[in-house]
Amino acid sequence: MGIRIVSRARIRELESFIEDVSYPSHCVDCPGLYSDSPQHHPSYEVTTECNLNCVFCYAHSSAMANTLPKPGYYGNENPKAITVSQYGEPTVIGIEKLEKLFDLLRKKFGNVRIDLQTNGTLLNKPVQADIVMISLSSSTKEGYMRLTGRNMFCRVLKAIEMNSGVIVRTVFLPGINDSEIDSIAKIVREYEVEHMIQPCSIHPGLKERLREAGYSFDRDTLYDYLDSAEKARSSGADVRIPGCLLRIVKSMLEQFDFEDVVFAQRRVAKSPPKIRREWKFSFHI
Ligand code: SF4
Repeated sequence: MGIRIVSRARIRELESFIEDVSYPSHCVDCPGLYSDSPQHHPSYEVTTECNLNCVFCYAHSSAMANTLPKPGYYGNENPKAITVSQYGEPTVIGIEKLEKLFDLLRKKFGNVRIDLQTNGTLLNKPVQADIVMISLSSSTKEGYMRLTGRNMFCRVLKAIEMNSGVIVRTVFLPGINDSEIDSIAKIVREYEVEHMIQPCSIHPGLKERLREAGYSFDRDTLYDYLDSAEKARSSGADVRIPGCLLRIVKSMLEQFDFEDVVFAQRRVAKSPPKIRREWKFSFHI
């Protein structure tokens, strides 16, 4: 990668973006906000099946390594929030069954927040979760088809429109969708929901897949990510940065110069993603 020339003015804009930007409501009560070795929220894994085939999906890495999680609850006895789920697409079991699962979790754990993580393509009616995180990493039907393998862009927009507590989740993919982040943010802004933009997690086995899809590893720096996220927020979207990432960046900036932090090349993870909590039980639904 050549030397990057960035004006002092732009650096100041990005520094104040980091100071101002908030994390999504999904991150509230997550250990990622304060721990140096964070575990994600407790999760209930429904299935590892999915109706899409996203080029950036980290579950492919686990599938290749044969480490996909078995269904069930991974977490402690007193969760404040449960993510349903980290792997696969939970809505493939049907909305009724999914809501039955939410009821069972609420019955067992009391006043717990249920954060559904979904691609939104099968949400043909509002779902009774507290937070509904819907993935959208393209601004066009064609781009969506290239990224996911299915022509379901319009269904995702409908799911965003009809649900409450929506957070749209966009994965930043330099070389693939970096020129579209602004257009995605403009779409999200129309629905007046939170817009979480996150970097792509690159685990073993994903690099080649991403390269074939046009991923630019040269532009995979924190600078490129923050630059896109800041521009998206300038267009009026309610852009949010993952809480754990924001905390790490702020703490690095206390010790190092801005340029040294943001231009460092991101590392590819050495092992497949893993749930860092113990399996406890599963419901028969
Ligand atoms: S993005 Fe980070 S802080 Fe937010 S919920 Fe996930 S692990 Fe926690």
